[in-house]
Amino acid sequence: MLEIKDLHVFYGAIHALKGISLTVADGELVSLIGANGAGKTTTLHAISGLLPAASGSILLDGTDLQKVPANTIIGLGMAHVPEGRHVFARMTVEENLRMGAYILRDQKRISENLERVYGHFPRLKERRRQLAGTLSGGEQQMLSTGRALMTDPKIVLMDEPSMGLSPLLVKEIFSIIQELHKSGITILLVEQNAKMALAVSDRAYVLETGTISMEGPAAELAADDRVRKAYLGA
Ligand code: ATP
Repeated sequence: MLEIKDLHVFYGAIHALKGISLTVADGELVSLIGANGAGKTTTLHAISGLLPAASGSILLDGTDLQKVPANTIIGLGMAHVPEGRHVFARMTVEENLRMGAYILRDQKRISENLERVYGHFPRLKERRRQLAGTLSGGEQQMLSTGRALMTDPKIVLMDEPSMGLSPLLVKEIFSIIQELHKSGITILLVEQNAKMALAVSDRAYVLETGTISMEGPAAELAADDRVRKAYLGA
């Protein structure tokens, strides 16, 4: 579904991604783990067209995403849940969700998608008239994820969903990610919480200062000594 080859990204003179290649197959949950500043967010921004790549290719079902404007990528079935959630604080939960469907015209489809999202997140349904700015961090993460699902995407890019959440909420968010995966959604997950990410993923890539240093089935990486020492606190 998603195929990235030899991707290079610069911020001025800083060479942030030094030729990374990765794939996410239909229905897979793949995670990209790595320390602060390794280039995880940069990778997702390049895929979503928010940052230009210096060279390399990014194909979504064969379409070169660098050749389409960033604001049309969502129409190709890819959605992005940004780091930091970015909910519209002064709008209600339901208004935020409807904003996620801004590219859709068909009201029936929007209502169906809204009900599907509420099915995944009953807590959002209970709070649908509440202002998003008054939600807890975990609820805002649910809202940001639900908003991305409003176009019924084939693939979702998730950036650090567990950031800033209490251990209990981290567990809840990861169990939601697992459920979304089971429901057939393809996910590319960026996480600093390598332990949880490897526990729910099919495969994973380890990013170190702009280079993929290791890749493989998540269970194999979780058992690898180097990964255990560097990322799992073993
Ligand atoms: P974090 O988990 O801290 O967000 P990350 O793995 O997502 O880390 P990136 O945010 O992708 O890392 O950053 C990769 C590298 O690019 C870092 O060295 C960072 O300092 C640099 N970088 C990121 N954004 C910019 C920017 N706007 N201008 C200059 N350098 C940047």
